[in-house]
Amino acid sequence: LDDNKKQNNHGRRSPSAPPIDPKLLRVESLLRKALEREEFSLYYQPQVNINTGEIYGMEALIRWHHPKLGIIYPHQFLPWAEKTSLIVSINQWVLQTACRQNRAWQAAGLPRLPMSVNLSPRQFQQPNLTQIVAQVLDKAKLEPYWLELEITERAIVQNGNLARQLFHQLSQLGVPVAIDDFGTGYSAIGYLQEFPFNKLKIAQSCVNKLKDNPKKTGIISAAIALGRAFNLRVVAEGVETQQQLDLLRRLQCQEIQGYRFSKPLSDTEATQFLTQHWIVTK
Ligand code: C2E
Ligand code: MG
Ligand code: MG
Ligand code: MG
Repeated sequence: LDDNKKQNNHGRRSPSAPPIDPKLLRVESLLRKALEREEFSLYYQPQVNINTGEIYGMEALIRWHHPKLGIIYPHQFLPWAEKTSLIVSINQWVLQTACRQNRAWQAAGLPRLPMSVNLSPRQFQQPNLTQIVAQVLDKAKLEPYWLELEITERAIVQNGNLARQLFHQLSQLGVPVAIDDFGTGYSAIGYLQEFPFNKLKIAQSCVNKLKDNPKKTGIISAAIALGRAFNLRVVAEGVETQQQLDLLRRLQCQEIQGYRFSKPLSDTEATQFLTQHWIVTK
């Protein structure tokens, strides 16, 4: 800020400077404290084979435990964090925690599974993201194929060139990539063909439509056909009811993630879940 103007304005900001949203400043300070006080945690939701229940992977989902407000969900604070530099620290914490947890499960002798981590839109603009991912993997002593990064279809379409670079770097590093929220109105199937990725996650909103109208299977069938043609894993997200499950089976969807099978679990619950599951299926 220009010092002269500051004095002339009695300490007020120059009229040409962009206004600072007081709410944003307050949320920023709350988020900084949350990081310092370790109020964030990761929950883990299994992705399972639709026929056998075999676990194919876990997705890490962030939660904020506020001492007074209780649990705060990602859609309530991540959009705010995205507007500040704190998103970088939060993302780094998520990546580290998820990789360490996966390594700990492996060290405990549990079956090896890929751990999915969501990338925030801002992480695209981070030019050294691939190096950061490599460093985190190295520190956690986790091999690259046990991490998987989820990127929304929307973020890819909005940052085409950056996404293309990033996908190629990650595939060189050996980290699988999943396209999240596939089918939410941005579908550019021909365009996506240019990107190396391993998995399609059918958006919850598409799976949800099956509840009102079981005939609305267009996007789901398309995703499954695409998966077959390009040898991709296809996961249906947000599967809640038996009816959805039956329909997805009929469409020959291989994998599901949703409350029908399991809600996101705390680290303790997830460890218990994996241990029990492992004993049952052994
Ligand atoms: P997403 O990656 O598409 O994650 C799936 C969301 O669907 C999760 O919401 C999960 O709890 C919810 N879900 C799973 N099964 C069901 C179901 O059967 N029914 C319903 N109604 N919901 C189900 P959550 O945890 O609130 O996360 C919302 C979004 O926030 C995520 O969508 C992801 O885009 C973002 N997010 C979550 N954790 C992180 C994180 O650590 N980093 C970043 N950058 N983004 C995150
Ligand atoms: Mg939510
Ligand atoms: Mg996701
Ligand atoms: Mg999703």
